[in-house]
Amino acid sequence: MHVRKGDKVRVLSGAEKGKEGKILKVFARKNRAIVEGLNLIKRHTKPSSRNQQGGIIEKEAAMHLSNLHVVCPGCGEASGVKRIRDDAGRLQRHCKACNETISTG
Ligand SMILES: [Zn+2]
Repeated sequence: MHVRKGDKVRVLSGAEKGKEGKILKVFARKNRAIVEGLNLIKRHTKPSSRNQQGGIIEKEAAMHLSNLHVVCPGCGEASGVKRIRDDAGRLQRHCKACNETISTG
């Protein structure tokens, strides 16, 4: 998994190419993630006790992880991450462009 919940990511291809957003949820088994405010789909809802009128709501649809690159907090580039094991054996993610540590653990 090269992205995690809370990561800021940039979309590399498709209709949302170039846009950025925060990962809200990762579906590891499906290799997909929900990105805040991106890949919105319209969903028709029936009237319910909570929403008496029903109607159309917009909701984020999951995007394939191969289309998403983490945006580095250091240099702002979405060059991708490389994973390095530190002395304690923990995997660290580093920016491919500037080598900034993106996260540990
Ligand atoms: Zn960087």
